[in-house]
Amino acid sequence: MSAAKDGARAFGSRELDAALARARELGARCERELDGLGEAEAARRALRELSAHGLLGWAVPQMFGGAATGELADPATVSVRALCALRDVLASHHGMLDVMLVMQGLGSYPLVLGWNDANRAACAQRLAAAARGAQVAAFALTEPGAGSSLAETATRATRTASGWRLDGHKTFISNAGIADFYTVLARTSGEPGKAEGLSMFAVDARARGASVEPFEVIAPHPIGEVRFDAVELPADALLGTVDQGLALALGTLARFRTTVAAAANGFARRALAETRAHLASRRQFGKPLAANQALRFDVAEMDVRLRAAELLVAEAAALVDAGAESGLAVARAKLFATEGAGWICDRAVQLHGGLGVKRGSVVERLFREVRALRIYEGTSEIQKLIIAKELLG
Ligand SMILES: Cc1cc2nc3c(=O)[nH]c(=O)nc-3n(C[C@H](O)[C@H](O)[C@H](O)COP(=O)(O)OP(=O)(O)OC[C@H]3O[C@@H](n4cnc5c(N)ncnc54)[C@H](O)[C@@H]3O)c2cc1C
Repeated sequence: MSAAKDGARAFGSRELDAALARARELGARCERELDGLGEAEAARRALRELSAHGLLGWAVPQMFGGAATGELADPATVSVRALCALRDVLASHHGMLDVMLVMQGLGSYPLVLGWNDANRAACAQRLAAAARGAQVAAFALTEPGAGSSLAETATRATRTASGWRLDGHKTFISNAGIADFYTVLARTSGEPGKAEGLSMFAVDARARGASVEPFEVIAPHPIGEVRFDAVELPADALLGTVDQGLALALGTLARFRTTVAAAANGFARRALAETRAHLASRRQFGKPLAANQALRFDVAEMDVRLRAAELLVAEAAALVDAGAESGLAVARAKLFATEGAGWICDRAVQLHGGLGVKRGSVVERLFREVRALRIYEGTSEIQKLIIAKELLG
């Protein structure tokens, strides 16, 4: 199969094939309309459409109200192969569709990992609502002083007579401002700089003392600062056990990180398709651009980098779904696919000439949309650290 075709097919199952068909139809119909909307409106519209097309459930385990994935996943977890296939298709149409799907999973998965007898009712209600799109989830780790190093977390949760009190400042939180709940990493003991003493909490976005300040990034993406000022949390807001928070946060990232690579492939595939069409139709010097060997070589290189990234994603997703050791494969896939997609989208802009940077052209949007994927859920440098640690100790 050529990388230029739909890489998602490699993951197929009956349930997933039907979901992918709905995702393709949704993407093709919605991509232009989403471009014309403001950020928050586009996010809400994307969420409604994903829900109406029965796609959000793929971000939540079947056991907690999510989609029936057939043989693709244990009902107690999400299928990474399925999420990869869906993100790949949605990203090829519009980044907002991709982000709104995955955030329902990333934001709610700590509830899956931290589910216990004490918080069962609250978690069950939120997970089922996230799977339907009735509640919007957000995942709040990053702080002004804690980015790549979560040990620097300074947000603090202190015990009270009825539960917990939360104080702190999170930043770069996707879905800030539209979320109904945040899964928040906070310090329950020790000082910033220590990886121990961190716990995770589910926090109602409307709780008194929680406030949001949205900001803009390079491409449409609902995001902002979130402040917690003496927010009172009930006892069942604690996910898992005290001091287990870093394991819940890293466990969530371990499940979802491969899907970032899959989204990068979706952006890259679209950039390649747009480039092929442009090179065939645009004529300069009395011949199609596609007749120039230098540009043909670029297209060949784009195709190979995308295909290699697809194979790395397929390998990593299969290992995560199998519950096998996957850290090295996931880091390779995230690093190679996101860096490669950045290069592919950049070449696509170049081969479109002036049209490549004109607002409203697809490759101009892809160029902006793909950039953040090298940064979030572990930067490229952090992926290299993971790979090097495996190889060198
Ligand atoms: C669009 C977008 C959405 C996001 N959504 C969320 C979200 O929903 N929830 C959330 O919690 N966070 C989110 N983030 C934050 C994201 O996870 C962080 O930006 C990321 O982890 C990097 O942290 P930082 O920005 O503080 O960079 P820093 O950690 O300050 O890193 C700066 C640079 O130094 C490099 N660096 C750092 N340490 C090392 C080292 N030891 N060796 C080599 N290089 C190093 C990094 O790779 C990077 O290039 C989002 C970010 C973006 C851009």
